[in-house]
Amino acid sequence: MTERIYNFSAGPAVMPVEVLQEARENLLSLGTSGIGILEHSHRGKAYMAVHEEAEALCRELAGISADYQVLFLQGGASLQFSMVPMNLLGAGATADYLVTGNWSQKAVAEARRCGDVHIACSSEDRNFAYIPKTCTFSAKPAYVHYTSNNTIYGTEFAAEPENPTGAPLVCDASSDIFSRPLPVSKYGLIYAGAQKNLGPSGVTLVIIRNDLVERGPKELATMLQYRTYAADHSLYNTPPTFGIYIMGLVFKWIKKQGGLAAVEQVNRDKAGKLYRYLDESRLFRATADRDSRSLMNVTFVTGDAARNDKFVATAKKAGLDGLKGHRNVGGMRASLYNAFPPAGVDALIDVMREFEAHAS
Ligand SMILES: *Cc1c(COP(=O)(O)O)cnc(C)c1O
Repeated sequence: MTERIYNFSAGPAVMPVEVLQEARENLLSLGTSGIGILEHSHRGKAYMAVHEEAEALCRELAGISADYQVLFLQGGASLQFSMVPMNLLGAGATADYLVTGNWSQKAVAEARRCGDVHIACSSEDRNFAYIPKTCTFSAKPAYVHYTSNNTIYGTEFAAEPENPTGAPLVCDASSDIFSRPLPVSKYGLIYAGAQKNLGPSGVTLVIIRNDLVERGPKELATMLQYRTYAADHSLYNTPPTFGIYIMGLVFKWIKKQGGLAAVEQVNRDKAGKLYRYLDESRLFRATADRDSRSLMNVTFVTGDAARNDKFVATAKKAGLDGLKGHRNVGGMRASLYNAFPPAGVDALIDVMREFEAHAS
């Protein structure tokens, strides 16, 4: 087999090798069933066990109580930009949004199709390089929505934002879910496309408080109501079986690492090392404010576009792929999700050091 290289892609992103190896075995035969995981009926016993285990491990890792449903949907985080307001933003009501990047803006645009949106804060004035410290909320929001990690801009909320409104807190946690302990009871709804930290693209995890499941109007299309998924354990129709299977393996892998607190420590070490180097470097610098830095996506620049490109090409030659930053920020972005190995960060710093030594 071709040797694997370091993949810094923002998503779909690197997966744990053990997960890929186990999946490879089960592609041809799930356990001793003689039928591969892709080929099992979603109503059969073999797949049901996979489905139930994925949900149970998810609940165990984050300590999710019976007050919440754990749902597996399709349509990515982007469909949640619509489903959240369709179900939770009642007629005449206002929803409050914290705008900290491109994904928050897209969520706002979809909510505006359903009703009134109040922008509680925004960091657009400095190209989303920071997490705002204060918000101004509307009188009685139907919910408060924020993006916990801003994949493109390399910023992350250190903790849940203050939410004195008493309204349900809704979070797009696509790019940092399960990178650290998740205090689920502070939330009304959490959603995440799987392809950054949880598994392959094609499945979206939704954790929703029971009372919110029933808030959506019954006139909505069946597939757009949370209750449809909650009533049937996400088996109303054919779920993304393979994605759910892989997500279950990733949950098992996280558990083996010691759980969410243990992966958080590894993530802090990985990102900390890279930020330390960036702070010392005379060539490279991080783009996000120090107090807003993401542990998942480290964005950095040299200050010169041609030199950035040269660095990305140099790194690629050294077996470090996916470092080109998003066009909204430019420069470089190193995505260091749970499955990204610490040795890859060391390799990156070595290449940066070498590049810096030869740049003048
Ligand atoms: C990637 C990403 C999205 C978009 O996810 P899709 O699954 O492609 O719809 C939304 N929000 C955040 C924070 C992301 O990182």
